Amino acid sequence: MKTYLFKGILQNNGWLPNMGITVNTVGTVTDIFSFDPNIQTQQVLGGYALPAFQNAHSHAFQYAMAGLAERHENKAAQDDFWGWREAMYQLALSLDPDQMEAVATMLYTEMARHGYTNVAEFHYVHHDKNGKPYANLAEMGSRLISAAKTVGLGITLVPIFYQKGGFGLEPNERQRRFISPTIEDYLKLLEASKAACKHYSHANIAMGIHSMRGVEPLDIVEIAKSGPQDFPFHIHVSEQKKEVADAMEYLGKRPVQWLLDNVGLNDRFHLVHATHLSDDEIARLAKSKTHVVLCPSTEGNLGDGLFPLRKYEEHGGKWSIGTDSHVGLSPVEELRILDYGQRLTSHNRNSYSYHTHGDSGMHALEMATLSGRKAMGNTTSDFFKIGQPLNACVIDASAPLIASSSMENLASTIVYAGDPSLNLNTISHGQLITRAGVHQQQVSITQTFLSAMETLKNR
Ligand code: ZN
Repeated sequence: MKTYLFKGILQNNGWLPNMGITVNTVGTVTDIFSFDPNIQTQQVLGGYALPAFQNAHSHAFQYAMAGLAERHENKAAQDDFWGWREAMYQLALSLDPDQMEAVATMLYTEMARHGYTNVAEFHYVHHDKNGKPYANLAEMGSRLISAAKTVGLGITLVPIFYQKGGFGLEPNERQRRFISPTIEDYLKLLEASKAACKHYSHANIAMGIHSMRGVEPLDIVEIAKSGPQDFPFHIHVSEQKKEVADAMEYLGKRPVQWLLDNVGLNDRFHLVHATHLSDDEIARLAKSKTHVVLCPSTEGNLGDGLFPLRKYEEHGGKWSIGTDSHVGLSPVEELRILDYGQRLTSHNRNSYSYHTHGDSGMHALEMATLSGRKAMGNTTSDFFKIGQPLNACVIDASAPLIASSSMENLASTIVYAGDPSLNLNTISHGQLITRAGVHQQQVSITQTFLSAMETLKNR
């Protein structure tokens, strides 16, 4: 049993001041109660508790190249997503399992510092450097789970079905570590990944395909319809205009339109990016209750384009955030880039005007939390609830703008004027995994990461 006392906790309908939360030995909430700060003698955990952030899209290995690929020496050359992808392939081909684990452990420690307690790992580097499956098909996935376990982060492993090198194209040599040639091969990988999740109580499984261009259309239909129906299903889609044009040529339909027509999209599907949508796709997607996962810092870094958030919100569409390539790791930065992209192009500040309570910060936190949880297979909608694990990002109540704000302005102050220095603690499954931004094993995790980076030699 452990009790945390907060200056306030954020519930779905707003802040509750002076609240305590008790957890049992496995971190499940057993009591939520109010206390009188004048007579309470126990130490208050100095802050306001937000439901912890949910990172709905990650490729852990790409953290090793975050901030690289920015030296554009040939001014005349086009440098876009496809050029960046070559640099990413280079890295994917060079990592061994130990390096993968060291990079992921450092990354997840950084995620915890930024207030995330859960990550959906969209994982496709499955095989050894020659493209041969490891003796344990889920060797690399197991390393990601180990990394999350070391840090204390919850992980949803999403082993990815990756089969093709593009619409109608065989995979190329540089994709050899990603490939499952058939549905049967993928299902074996999924099974091995599910077994790997059993080694950590905060790990669970989801499934997914890399993209429309990465899997044969008939196999997409088959895996979506005959695979397990109770796992969240993740897909990269319509991130690039070229991808939409290629789909039009190969399938006669836009990618999302094709998915809507051929796969029963619903609440269990999480479409990553979905940047380039027609008005019809926006309306139908929202109506289907499919979620989109937006990765604003990566999408901005790669020059993908702007997701039509205002229109999608008008139709009641649901979205979460992910840090994808990890060029940015701050959840509030993701939320701001997302909203400011809409403001800059619509010349209007109320991107979420169709939401009833009209508080942008509160709306963004709620959407990213609840849709993000769904991406992890967690359907709990209460921010903090008895019987659920205590996952919280604790905001420093003594920071000047926080200390001087009324409760009704707190959420938007955190989202629009906050930065990672506001994060006092991160609590995952009832455990304080970072205190003042520092993880218990910070020194050894950093040392192992630096040694791995020395052997990788890519920075
Ligand atoms: Zn991605």
